[in-house]
Amino acid sequence: SIPLTFFSGIGFASKKGILVKGSNYIEALRYVDTVVFDKTGTLTKGVFNVTKVKPVGISEEKLLEYAAFAEANSNHPIAKSILSYYKKDIDLNKIENYEEIAAHGIRIKYNDELILAGNEKLMKKENIFYSQAKEVGTVVYISVNKIYRGYVVISDEIKEDSKDAIKKLKLAGIKQVVMLTGDNDKVAQNVANELGIDKVYANLLPNEKVNKLEELYEGRTEKEKVIFVGDGINDAPVLARADVGIAMGGLGSDAAIEAADVVLMTDEPSKIAKSIEIATKTNKIVM
Ligand code: ADP
Ligand code: MG
Repeated sequence: SIPLTFFSGIGFASKKGILVKGSNYIEALRYVDTVVFDKTGTLTKGVFNVTKVKPVGISEEKLLEYAAFAEANSNHPIAKSILSYYKKDIDLNKIENYEEIAAHGIRIKYNDELILAGNEKLMKKENIFYSQAKEVGTVVYISVNKIYRGYVVISDEIKEDSKDAIKKLKLAGIKQVVMLTGDNDKVAQNVANELGIDKVYANLLPNEKVNKLEELYEGRTEKEKVIFVGDGINDAPVLARADVGIAMGGLGSDAAIEAADVVLMTDEPSKIAKSIEIATKTNKIVM
């Protein structure tokens, strides 16, 4: 039977905006020694701003039009930023064969032209002859009918409480803090240095995030639990695999909230240390 105090732990956590789906997760949180974070939407706001538009052989306006139509059906934070920068109306009927390729980008047909908008991985996969942009930020490369037409740079901001969140985890005795991201190395390293994250893995596909998590599990005991914290865009499988999967409830997708064991109502990463603290206190009461 489950001690009543576990339920009071769940109740107490919920008052702090932390929804725990079962008392077994309170128990698991007590033994966490590794915390793994997703980057975009988790440690960063996931609100991007367009900081540069670089057309190649077409006008800036035309490049933005291609980018906006490509992103018009996507829920990704990158898509939202490009659309709010574009501002003009988009006739969705002009978009055909819409395809969103996780951790790569978008493929559509627009006015009978094949548009690709995404990262270097997408350009390579589609055999586009592009030139690498030397920019700090997330670069969205665009090709039209397989011809490279330039790029758009967008930048995200670190959440106000992310730095404090990592500091509190270290103070709570967490051994390692890891970040997994589908974004590029440069952006990933910047965020990690800023926040004091121990290990970073960039350019990951959703299934590679699961593989990295599996690697982190190797040689672990029952008393060395792993938490994964994500916003659920492209990381629902990792949320499901972790000992404790924690999702951002505000920004997060329904799939993420479903896959997660714990949901944070306020999207603040500092709530991770709070969850561990509550779990530790709850168990002390049990004993
Ligand atoms: P993270 O792991 O940091 O949360 P994602 O896995 O959601 O990031 O995305 C990884 C990368 O895939 C992005 O940084 C971007 O380069 C590319 N990407 C994903 N979705 C899109 C999109 N809708 N448009 C353009 N690029 C995208
Ligand atoms: Mg994310």
